Amino acid sequence: IGIQIAIDGPAAAGKSTIAKITANKLGYTYIDTGAMYRALTYKALKEHIDVYDDEALSQLLSRIVIELSPAEEGQIVRVEGEDVTEAIRSQEVTSNVSAVAAQPQVREMMVEKQRLLANSKGVVMDGRDIGTAVLPNAELKIYMTASVEERAARRFVENTKRGIDRSMEQLCQDIANRDKADMERIASPLKQADDAIFIDTTSMSIEQVADTIIQHAEK
Ligand code: C5P
Repeated sequence: IGIQIAIDGPAAAGKSTIAKITANKLGYTYIDTGAMYRALTYKALKEHIDVYDDEALSQLLSRIVIELSPAEEGQIVRVEGEDVTEAIRSQEVTSNVSAVAAQPQVREMMVEKQRLLANSKGVVMDGRDIGTAVLPNAELKIYMTASVEERAARRFVENTKRGIDRSMEQLCQDIANRDKADMERIASPLKQADDAIFIDTTSMSIEQVADTIIQHAEK
């Protein structure tokens, strides 16, 4: 029982926060696909693998186990048993993840894993290509965005909690760079699915966005 909800949009648009709340309220499974690309990037950096080397990255991906397990705080991410939930949010991972995610073979493997994870139905999955490539038949598709300034401001608050020191100016630049890379890559670039509902969250509260999505889900 339950439907598939796909949430896509650019960096730091609040997708995971909203996806988590929505999944909780509906009693669905929440899957953060960005965390999977981040986990692979973390491992690649650790093993000094070139983040533009599709072949080497896919080989790495085929021999590691990335585990996502639901937790109070959303989701625990493990690579080879190591808890990398916090480590995958580092500046180094964030600035290299879009290169990794642009590699076609890596994407093909990730999409396959993500489809298997969504098999249970009753799922909220967030990412960049969920409505367009991973779950093209999802019953509800949301494309969420906000102004770059608003997204940087939200990330700034999150970073402060994590002890990451990055100025608003740097954050705007980081976000713009990541959006550009994600939208311009050849393999399933970030774009709104034709049948997705567009939500500009710039001046909406978290609750308002979550309620909007739940209303659509209950239709
Ligand atoms: O969502 P998050 O910001 O954690 O995602 C990190 C990066 O992973 C994105 O900037 C994008 O390059 C990549 N990604 C992707 N496809 C997804 C999810 C994330 O390409 N479905």
